[in-house]
Amino acid sequence: MCGVFGIYGVPEAAKLAYLGLYALQHRGQESAGIASSDMGKVYSRVAMGLVADIFSPQDLDSLKGSSALGHTRYSTTGSSTIKNAQPIVVDYSHGTMAMAHNGNLTNARQVRDFLEAHGSIFSSTTDTEVLIHLIATSEGNKLIDCIVDALSQIKGAYSLVILTKKKLIGAVDPNNIRPLSLGKKGNGWVLASETCAFDIIDAEYVRPLEPGEIVVIDKDGLKSYKPFKAQKPAKCIFEYVYFSRPDSYIWGNSVQKARKALGAQLAKEFPVKADYVVPVPDSSNSAATGYSGESKIPYEMGIIRNHYIGRTFIEPSQTIRDFGAKIKYNPVKEILKDKKLVLIDDSIVRGTTGKKLVKMLRTVGAKEVHWRISSPPITNSCFYGVDTPTRKELIAAGNSVEKIREFMGVETLGYLSPEGMVKAVGGKMDEYCMACFDGKYPVDSANIQKCISEEKNEEKC
Ligand code: SF4
Repeated sequence: MCGVFGIYGVPEAAKLAYLGLYALQHRGQESAGIASSDMGKVYSRVAMGLVADIFSPQDLDSLKGSSALGHTRYSTTGSSTIKNAQPIVVDYSHGTMAMAHNGNLTNARQVRDFLEAHGSIFSSTTDTEVLIHLIATSEGNKLIDCIVDALSQIKGAYSLVILTKKKLIGAVDPNNIRPLSLGKKGNGWVLASETCAFDIIDAEYVRPLEPGEIVVIDKDGLKSYKPFKAQKPAKCIFEYVYFSRPDSYIWGNSVQKARKALGAQLAKEFPVKADYVVPVPDSSNSAATGYSGESKIPYEMGIIRNHYIGRTFIEPSQTIRDFGAKIKYNPVKEILKDKKLVLIDDSIVRGTTGKKLVKMLRTVGAKEVHWRISSPPITNSCFYGVDTPTRKELIAAGNSVEKIREFMGVETLGYLSPEGMVKAVGGKMDEYCMACFDGKYPVDSANIQKCISEEKNEEKC
C-alpha cells in the first residue's frame, strides 16, 4: 500500500509528479514526497499528510528540473513518522539517489541485521532503506550493476522508482507482486503504480513492466533489463478486488472491467431475491453494478459515504477506525425502508465496520440484508505490502461463514469462490498471489511461515 510515480524528460516534472500523486492518493495517506532533478542537483520535499495539503506552489517551484519521482505512503513496514516518509534521498559515493518503494521486502530484517553488524547506520525503520544500503555498498561499477546486485539479495514485493541526477529507473520484483506501468508524455517517459496517474497528466499508457524487469531512462532513451531468472508471476489479486482505482489499468487489464465481472460472478454463485443491489461505497460500486447487471435487480445508492475522511481499512489506529466507522457512512432511509437488500462489499477484514453498517441499515428499516462479498474469506495476513491485520484479528481466520453471518446479523452471507474470482479477473489461478485467501505464500514462504509460527507480525519479519 503505497503509490509511486516517476517522470523523465518533461518540463515542470515536479508539478506533474504532484498531479500523479494526487491521482494515487488512495494508495496511501500518511505521508507524501517528491524529489526532482535538474541534471545537476536533486531537490526534495517530504511531509506527513495528504498530497494536496503538503505541497505549496512555492514548494513545487523549488523542485526544479525535468525529471522527478513521487511517493504516497501507507506504512506496512516501519512506523508512520516523517523519518520513514519517502522518497528517501541519499548522497553516497556514486552521487545522489532518491528512492520510492511500493511493496514489502520479506527478508529486510535479516539483511538489515547483517548490514548493521558490518557497520551500516540506518536513519529510518523502513525496508526501503535496506535496499539503498545494498546499492550504496555494492561493488558494481555502473548504477545498473549495483541495482541488480542489491535486488538479487532481497526477497518479497517491490515496485520501485529511483531517481539520480541524470537517470530515472523503474523496477519490479521477479514475481511481479505489485504493479508498475510505463507511459509516454511527449518525448518523455512516465512510471506509475496505476495508469490513473497517466490520465491526469495526459500521458499515454505504453505497457506494464514485466516480472523482474528494470527500465533505465536517460538522455539516450529507455533500456530494459531482465537480469533475473524468470519466475512464476504472483500478481496481487487484491489490487483488482479492492486496492487499485477502477479507472486504472494494472498489468494491462482494466480494473473496472475486472471488478464488474467479480460482481457478475458473485450474482451467479449467490443469487437471491431482493429489491435493490446496494454497494458499500466506494470500493464496491463497480462490483455492485456487475451484480445488478447479472441479477437484473436494480442498483441503488442506498448508502452515502462521506469523502472527507480516510478509508477506515487503511487508517492505522484502532481509535480512529472505530470513530471512522460511525462517521463514514449514512444510509438513505427513503430508499432502504422496508426493502430487501443485496449489500455488496469487496471484503470483510475484522468485521467490526460491517456489523455497524448492518445495524445502521436496520435502524432505517431495511427488511432483509443479504451480504455478498466479491472475494473469498480473508484468512491470512499479507506480507507483501497490503496492511491486512494479524491473523487473529481477521474474522474469517477463526470463524465459519455461518458464524460470521450470525455476528454480522444478516439474513444470508455469500463469499465469491477463489475459482470465481480468478475467472472474473481473467488469467490462471497460478499467476496470482492469493495468499491472504489461501495461505499459500508464493515468495519467501519458509521465512513467512516461521514468522507466523512465532506469532510475529510482518514488521518483525
Ligand atoms: S497476500 Fe493478498 S493482499 Fe498480499 S499480495 Fe497476496 S493477494 Fe495481495
